[in-house]
Amino acid sequence: MPTPPPADLPHPRIPVEEARALVVGAVRRVPAERVALAELAGRVLAEPVVAPHDLPRHANSAMDGYAVRAGDPGPWPVADRILAGDDPAPLPAGACAAIATGGVLPDGADAVVPIEQAEEADGAVTASVAPATGDHVRAVGADVRAGDEVLPAGSALGPLAAAAVAGLGLTGAVCAARPRVAVLTTGDELVAPGAPLARGQIHESNSVLVRAALERAGCAVVHVGVVPDDAAATRVAFAAALAGADLVVSTGGVSVGPRDHVKPALAELGVRELFWRIATQPGQPTWCGVAPDGALVAGLPGNPLSCLAGLHLLLVPAVRAMLGADPAPATVRAELAAPVRRLPARLRCLPMRLADGRLEDLGAGVSHQLSRAARANALALVPTGEGELAAGERVDAVVLG
Ligand code: AMP
Ligand code: MG
Repeated sequence: MPTPPPADLPHPRIPVEEARALVVGAVRRVPAERVALAELAGRVLAEPVVAPHDLPRHANSAMDGYAVRAGDPGPWPVADRILAGDDPAPLPAGACAAIATGGVLPDGADAVVPIEQAEEADGAVTASVAPATGDHVRAVGADVRAGDEVLPAGSALGPLAAAAVAGLGLTGAVCAARPRVAVLTTGDELVAPGAPLARGQIHESNSVLVRAALERAGCAVVHVGVVPDDAAATRVAFAAALAGADLVVSTGGVSVGPRDHVKPALAELGVRELFWRIATQPGQPTWCGVAPDGALVAGLPGNPLSCLAGLHLLLVPAVRAMLGADPAPATVRAELAAPVRRLPARLRCLPMRLADGRLEDLGAGVSHQLSRAARANALALVPTGEGELAAGERVDAVVLG
């Protein structure tokens, strides 16, 4: 149920889960493309990865030792010396073959005696214990069988998954294309980092945050623009940003002040509103809509920590939905290291430091406190309620990575 608007808010604010469902439901899926092995980590599979053959392909030794026929402890004359990569001849009856880890088990052998359990003297080997069938042998298909699904569609690939694709002998995989993102920052007070500040000016940081977070989520940022607080300039900037983007994210200018031109500009461009205002603190004046061509448009508030909340609670999930991955934010449940005040009608989204299962409050409770938040690796979600949550109480936290 939407939280009823307080008397001072003419526009309803909606719970963040509802807002997330709206953006996730509104996005269009990106097309699929083939991605080479070296580029796979960080991508999301559009098609499953299936094993083209059994792995291991051939029974091989798990140890340096001797390939034998199981049953008795020898002695066996050494008929061969097999290294990884060799294609060995069959083992003569009653003989053994020295074998290196990964060496193919010769036909006629069914066990390996590790070097530590064997004694080689005068060209013959004796085991300290009689080997059993299968001892120290990596059987055909013990990792995966031909035709098995190794990774389902929608999997977010990391280095390990990319290596598994390589291990199957595949040169790449079919992934969702990177969603194309345009980022606009609005505000006459904004100055590029490195430039001197006149009184009243601040260094622009939101584009760095938005870009890095969305690139990490799998996007390609194709356009970044800085927009003055001017109605016509805002309209022109959004029109340009919308061309060829799957997601347009702006920051600032989305409230109701005389310099807030984002919503009127988007209305003129035919962008249909999904919602404006979410029941969070910070991040309340967050606007989302859908452009006529289906692109998602997000007007995030200008304060950096407000921006952070909308990014991680709404836009990263929306991007995951575009990619065909599970859109739910990656959360952990962890203990508060210190008491935290709750708000009766808004979810507090507090940047905190998560270590050893505890969330350390960094004192970044106000939306401009970017420096205080700089060490945060989690966004603690403090549910609505009266009074405080005590130290030791557990809350969900979105992992910021
Ligand atoms: P606004 O939402 O435009 O009213 O901006 C709210 C606050 O966020 C103001 O103090 C702005 O100066 C600040 N702000 C807006 N955009 C940025 C930005 N790109 N980087 C850093 N701070 C910003
Ligand atoms: Mg502004």
